[in-house]
Amino acid sequence: MLLNAKEILLKEILYQYLNQLNMICHCEKCIEDVLAISLNQVKPQYITDIDKISYSKSEMVDKQKNTAMLVILTEAASKVTTFPRCENCQPLNKENS
Ligand SMILES: [Zn+2]
Repeated sequence: MLLNAKEILLKEILYQYLNQLNMICHCEKCIEDVLAISLNQVKPQYITDIDKISYSKSEMVDKQKNTAMLVILTEAASKVTTFPRCENCQPLNKENS
């Protein structure tokens, strides 16, 4: 099975810092948008076995890399918040809030 280790790691970091990303909507679609934007900015790191994720993770213990990922996620989150594409949070439609 082909897995993108970066996807798994970014997802973990995203959920860990979700409350700090100032997103107006935490629905599946917005979260996926943030992930998609972030993943398009990092080099994929494909692994063939979920067990190998631990190698990548130990690499990620490196605080600088972790912070770099968080910066990418934060930027992606602000993009999604500015231009949300889900129906829950059209910024011009205040009737819903
Ligand atoms: Zn949403």
